[in-house]
Amino acid sequence: MEVTDEIKNKTSKMITNLATSVDDVTSEKLKETIYRGVNEWLTPTEVRNLLLDIFKDLKTSRLDKIVRTESIRYWSFAEQEAWQQSWVVKYKQRWTALDERTCSTCWSLHGKKIPIDKSFAKDSYRDIIGSPLHPNCRCDMIPILE
Ligand SMILES: [Zn+2]
Repeated sequence: MEVTDEIKNKTSKMITNLATSVDDVTSEKLKETIYRGVNEWLTPTEVRNLLLDIFKDLKTSRLDKIVRTESIRYWSFAEQEAWQQSWVVKYKQRWTALDERTCSTCWSLHGKKIPIDKSFAKDSYRDIIGSPLHPNCRCDMIPILE
C-alpha cells in the first residue's frame, strides 16, 4: 500500500495533535515512521521499535497504542479512497462491538449509514469520516453497494 498525498493530508493534522508535546522535528519523525510502516508493511511491533529510538521517554504501551491507532486510521482512509474510486460503493456504515468496552460516542454511531463522501459526525477538531474514533477504538466500517 502506498501512502498517497491525499492520505497524508487527511492524517497529518491528527498526528500533529497527537504529538503536540514534542517539537516539529520529532512530530515529522513520528509521521515519517508511521508512513514508512504502512508503505513497507511493517508490523505494529516493528514500527513501535523504530519509534522507541525517537521517543525514548515514552512507555512501550503508549507507543503501541499510537502505532495501532494511527496505522488503522491510515488503512481506514486508504480503504475509503479505494471504495470511492470503485464507483460501486455508494454508502458506508459504522459498526461496533456494542459491549461494555464501547464508548458512548461509538455506541451512538453504530449502524449509521451515510454516503461514502460524507462525515458521520464532527467533533471539536475534525470530521469523523471513519475509524478509529479514538485510541483503542474497535469500530469498523462496512461498504454498502447500492
Ligand atoms: Zn469505536
